[in-house]
Order: sequence, then C-alpha cells, then structure tokens
Amino acid sequence: MIEIQDLHKSFGSLEVLKGINLKLEHGKVLVIIGPSGSGKTTLLRCFNLLEVPDRGSIVLSDTKLDFTNVKKVPQNSVLELRRKTGMVFQSYNLFPHMTVLGNVMEGQITVQKLPKEDARKRALALLDKVGLSEKADSYPHQLSGGQQQRVGIARAMAVEPEVLLFDEPTSALDPELVGDVLKVIKQLAAEGMTMVIVTHEMKFAADVADTIILMDNGLILEQGTPQEVLVHPKSPRARQFLNRLS
Ligand code: ATP
Repeated sequence: MIEIQDLHKSFGSLEVLKGINLKLEHGKVLVIIGPSGSGKTTLLRCFNLLEVPDRGSIVLSDTKLDFTNVKKVPQNSVLELRRKTGMVFQSYNLFPHMTVLGNVMEGQITVQKLPKEDARKRALALLDKVGLSEKADSYPHQLSGGQQQRVGIARAMAVEPEVLLFDEPTSALDPELVGDVLKVIKQLAAEGMTMVIVTHEMKFAADVADTIILMDNGLILEQGTPQEVLVHPKSPRARQFLNRLS
C-alpha cells in the first residue's frame, strides 16, 4: 500500500505541490492527469525521491518517510524506496552502449546482486513478455521509439519493484507506436501490477485506471473512478480542462 500525506514541494519560490494526499492499494492502478505545469511529473518523481519533498510523508509498504523538519533524508531510506519502485521515463533513458538484454540485466546485477545467469534468464523472460525476444542483442538506437519504451518497461520490471511509475510513457512516440506500449501496460494492470501513471492519453486512462486524480496548480482537483472524474467531474475547472480535450 502507498500512502502520501500533505506532500509539499517548491522549486525556489515556485510552489509546485501544495499539499497532496492520496492512497493506493496493492495491485491497483492510479492515473494522474491535469494541465501542463500542474505538478504531475513532480509528484511522480517524489514517489522514488528523484525529487525530495519539502514537507509531508510517503509510506510504501513498510518503508515510512517523513520529510517534515528533516534536513537530509537518510541514504538507506532513499535506497529502500528506490528498490521498491521502477521508473519508466518519457524519453526511455536506456543505456545507449548496452544491448537490449544488457539494459534489462543491469539493475538485477548492480542493485539486486543477482548472478549473471539468473539475471539473463529473467531478462529474456521479460523481453518475451513485452514482445521483443528477437531484439535482445540489438542496441537501443536500432529500435523504434515504441520498442525502446517496451525495453524501458522490461528494465523497470526486472528489479521486481512493488510499484511501477510511468512518466508520460507514450508522449515521445509517433501515434502509430503508442498502441503497442499501451497494450503492454494494460497487460501488466490485468496481472495485478501496482502502477502510477502520468499520461495525457485520456482513453487509455479511462481503460486502465482504478483511480484517476486530476491535478491543477499543485493540488488534487478531482479524485475518483474514471467515471467519476472523466464523466462527472464536480468542479467547473475540471470540466473546463476535460472539455478542452474532447
Ligand atoms: P507537463 O504535463 O507539461 O509535463 P506537469 O504537470 O508534469 O507538466 P511538472 O513537470 O511537475 O508539471 O512541473 C510543474 C512546475 O514545476 C512547472 O512550472 C515546472 O516548470 C516546474 N519545475 C519542474 N521541475 C523543476 C525543476 N527541477 N526546477 C525548477 N522548476 C521545476
């Protein structure tokens, strides 16, 4: 279970998160939507401490981090949280000098200290799952964006995280490549993977989310099922945002 309470984050004088509260049960999918600049990516990056909150707390299963009145987060807590999360980036962030197989093996060897042969077996199984077995020996630049992103998903899964975090996983892709990536994410959802996804793809959000939060200006404006948030939003501001998309 993930629980975030009263999370605040500023960059200099710009307050980007102004008190975020949310809960996510194991095996559920949370989708974060909202206008550009509303704080979606910053919130997602707080889940694995790529951004360190100024105030509030994050609980992920038995890891509890309170940021209020803390000067520096203890390094062991940072590592503990990072081990429990896997991040899929908008721009894939694959290691360019490693093969696809090497990319998916790397975290298992360096973070999990798995023997190479075990890492290789798991990596091959994951590549099969994302439909890329035949690309194991290719380098990232030899793949399409959609294929690179599927490697990114396999790599994030490889360290067996408790939660997968996706930062706009399809927004760098040509439209015809989006479908294959979304299919993989939907399959993971059906298998019960806990996921937090920032996306601008509203149809996908409606299909995959158990809960959607709509952020605006550093706060959660709407929170509920896809039906509640996308079809029956309560606030005029949310209706305005959603109308602009349709
Ligand atoms: P988008 O949909 O455009 O990606 P977003 O909702 O994900 O937007 P964030 O990326 O979280 O928004 O950014 C929120 C605000 O914080 C923006 O005004 C952004 O310029 C600012 N911001 C984000 N990261 C930093 C940083 N490292 N330093 C300074 N300002 C930042």
